[in-house]
Amino acid sequence: MSYPVPITVAFGDGIGPEIMQATLDIILAGGARLALETIDIGEKVYLGGNTAGIAPSAWESLRRTKVFLKAPITTPQGGGFKSLNVTTRKMLGLFANVRPCVAYAPYVDTKHPRMDVVIVRENEEDLYAGIEHQQTPEVVQCLKLISRPGTEKIVRYAFEYARRYGRKKVTCFTKDNIMKQTDGLFHAVFDEVAKEYPDLENEHWIVDIGAAKLADTPEIFDVIVMPNLYGDILSDVAAQIAGSVGLAGSSNIGEEVAMFEAIHGSAPRRAGQNLANPSGLLLGAVMMLVHIGQASVAETVHNAWLKTLEDGVHTYDIYEEGISTEKVGTKEFAQAVIARIGQQPEKLKPVSYASADTGAIRVTITPQPPKTIDIVGVDIFLYHDDRDPDQLGESLKHYAAGHMTLKMITNRGVKVWPAGFSETFCTDHWRCRFLSATGQPSRYENIIDLQQQLTENGYRIIKTENLCTFDGQPGFSAGQGA
Ligand code: NAD
Repeated sequence: MSYPVPITVAFGDGIGPEIMQATLDIILAGGARLALETIDIGEKVYLGGNTAGIAPSAWESLRRTKVFLKAPITTPQGGGFKSLNVTTRKMLGLFANVRPCVAYAPYVDTKHPRMDVVIVRENEEDLYAGIEHQQTPEVVQCLKLISRPGTEKIVRYAFEYARRYGRKKVTCFTKDNIMKQTDGLFHAVFDEVAKEYPDLENEHWIVDIGAAKLADTPEIFDVIVMPNLYGDILSDVAAQIAGSVGLAGSSNIGEEVAMFEAIHGSAPRRAGQNLANPSGLLLGAVMMLVHIGQASVAETVHNAWLKTLEDGVHTYDIYEEGISTEKVGTKEFAQAVIARIGQQPEKLKPVSYASADTGAIRVTITPQPPKTIDIVGVDIFLYHDDRDPDQLGESLKHYAAGHMTLKMITNRGVKVWPAGFSETFCTDHWRCRFLSATGQPSRYENIIDLQQQLTENGYRIIKTENLCTFDGQPGFSAGQGA
């Protein structure tokens, strides 16, 4: 008999305390060996003046136990309150969001009875870095950051997850036909890592058609790994079309700490009435049990839950005349699951976590050799209110520092000089590309000189981006999305 594993538990707000109690009752009855540490998070803490909704002592518990079972919380209305989920994710480096989206037909209504998809969403990068600026009166910008190590971590996690959980295929969604650098890197790393998993099928879809297929025929997918924004959107779509928003659990995994929860919120209108369905949090707790090395308990609990579902013992949210046999409250549902511990479902497919019984998934990043970086030019972004690109091009042409010459001007990415179209709509935001005239590497001092000259002559520089080659390969797009 192993020692109890310390975990940090938050009972949350609204229906949180009821579904957490039900979840704990079930997993403890199923044999989970846990030492619980309870922390306060959410509404009370926010309204007590802590804008993050979590106190320093709670962080201390989380960082020590490294396992967090969290009930939903209520974020108070009005400004100034930070999302606890975003804070936790960022502070603890929870890079992977894993959300199994499973149909439970005919017991839960769904258009896709054979759906069984796991969405693995990158959680830290992409457009979610929160780096946004107004650059000109007309134009705002949000920076999309994709890193090689960040991508390698999430992609490896997806493949490791697939292997552990007996999945057959990992699919990657990106938009690398347009975003050749950022999504291009994500796709390239996916292809590299995929080679190390010859036992698993792999494929890549452009996210738009991939998303359409996911909504139409989700049964053709197994595990799907995606950058943050696509994953955010499509994990909600997937949970919704599975019919299981109220039943889905999710995990947020970091190198050290992991957090497990239901995907739904605190449903304040249902609070305190013994109505809420604890299944989402219970399935989050099942993921936690596998993570902490108690996979056989996870399997027992999950199968007892499936049996309860197929026996038609349902809470109000999934109750349906003709399919359900008994409408129960939160506590009675928990008792029904506990009564079925040790049983297997007969109509729904039983789960097996035997292959996952090796504790937490760990991923390591392949060290990359240093690269030779040469500056070959600069994109200078100008705020310029006169909308005549030819005039701007003709006047900028005369500025050159260290043999850097003006090659092109674009407006919102469309080339407008030289030889632009008069039909192209222009804003007050211009990207002016200067390249080394000799084709040889330039020097950063030349870029500073160029900026100096432009500034002295009244041009308003918003920002610059160095154009570099990495081991001779251009690290920038050619313009016009090419
Ligand atoms: P919600 O998920 O709480 O509720 C949406 C609908 O689903 C409601 O009709 C609700 O009654 C029902 N529902 C949700 N969970 C249920 C369950 N377990 N059993 C039965 N019915 C259930 O979403 P909302 O109403 O938009 O948000 C309410 C609060 O939850 C807000 O304060 C929001 O900020 C918060 N929230 C928290 C989290 C989290 O902590 N992870 C996530 C989402 C929303």
